[in-house]
Amino acid sequence: MANKRDYYEVLGVSKNASDDELKKAYRKLAKKYHPDANPDNKAEAEAKFKEVNEAYENLSDPQKRRMYDQFGHDGPQGFGGAGGPFGGQGGYYSYSSSGFDGFGDFGDLGDIFSSFFGGGFGGRTSSKRQNGPRKGADLNLGIDITFEQSFLGVEKEVIITRDETCTICHGSGAKPGTSVTKCSVCNGTGQVTQVQNTILGQMQTRRTCSNCHGTGEVIKEPCEICHGKGTVRKQPKIKIKIPAGIDDNQTVVLRGEGEPGEKGGEKGDLYITVKIKKHPIYTRKGNQVLCEVPITITQATLGAELEIPMVDGSKETYKIPDGTQTGTKFTIRNKGFKSVNSNNVGDFIFTVIVQTPKRLTKEQRDLLTQLAKTMNEQPPVKKRGLFG
Ligand SMILES: [Zn+2]
Ligand SMILES: [Zn+2]
Repeated sequence: MANKRDYYEVLGVSKNASDDELKKAYRKLAKKYHPDANPDNKAEAEAKFKEVNEAYENLSDPQKRRMYDQFGHDGPQGFGGAGGPFGGQGGYYSYSSSGFDGFGDFGDLGDIFSSFFGGGFGGRTSSKRQNGPRKGADLNLGIDITFEQSFLGVEKEVIITRDETCTICHGSGAKPGTSVTKCSVCNGTGQVTQVQNTILGQMQTRRTCSNCHGTGEVIKEPCEICHGKGTVRKQPKIKIKIPAGIDDNQTVVLRGEGEPGEKGGEKGDLYITVKIKKHPIYTRKGNQVLCEVPITITQATLGAELEIPMVDGSKETYKIPDGTQTGTKFTIRNKGFKSVNSNNVGDFIFTVIVQTPKRLTKEQRDLLTQLAKTMNEQPPVKKRGLFG
């Protein structure tokens, strides 16, 4: 994994490449490196071909692309790192680029391949996909959290809807005490091959067996609870740990919390995309917390000790010097956001805004008038002026 080339580099496109640009680059390279087109150095071409496919598979899927942009090749293992808030979760949040495990498993690329190479690939793909173990579908979920929760991390409980293995038949679909038998039509393969004679010669087509619907098995007496499906729709409550420092639109992955796999395939994953509500005071820039702090003209002029409220609810005392101008920025180190995948902590940056008083007592006005005189200014006139 460590020496893996950047996916964008592999496809020779920029990080902002559109779906169309990706597809074009991919088609060109897939054609160039296809092993059948490189009989003289098949091994090298095959390696390149795989690399190109993996890059495309990850970048053409918006979710995977976002994960890749966010976490790179290694995925967000940083969430579960030792010493982190969720250490000891056993890689609960781990993510690895999935799917591509050899030539037979192109997933959605099947259609592109059949248009390129006359369906040879498509055929292999679909036969493997239907018979071998299949990973369960991934589930997607959005979750709203507050600015403070994104700062501190939060544990949320959500209810998701997914299939779960039927506890009565343990997933077999057969009524307890009865057994599942091999489909006699397809001999357990789930597919039937048809040979047709056409003007182009003999054509072989493979179809999903209609007797067993591709499962290769026939259930004589279906389980009464799941009606032979082997799974039942459930709405489990899932606890989600959102790590401190998570940013808007970032995704937390819970491995194995998606739909169940088929034929012994692993479970799908649960992707939770986090939306952070706007805060009335604070905003975020990278790992910095930004805010504006109103101060009076006397604080600005004479200097002052300010109590600045931090996002975690604590207060920091900060001394601003005399003669501070409005719009001046001050930095409190390491009081910003924690980084999700490193030990870095951002800064807290506040901008002071000098408030010009709008209502003054008589005493205050007199004092200011006196002050103004010492500064060789026109004293303020009671009468409403141009802008008053
Ligand atoms: Zn059942
Ligand atoms: Zn069958």
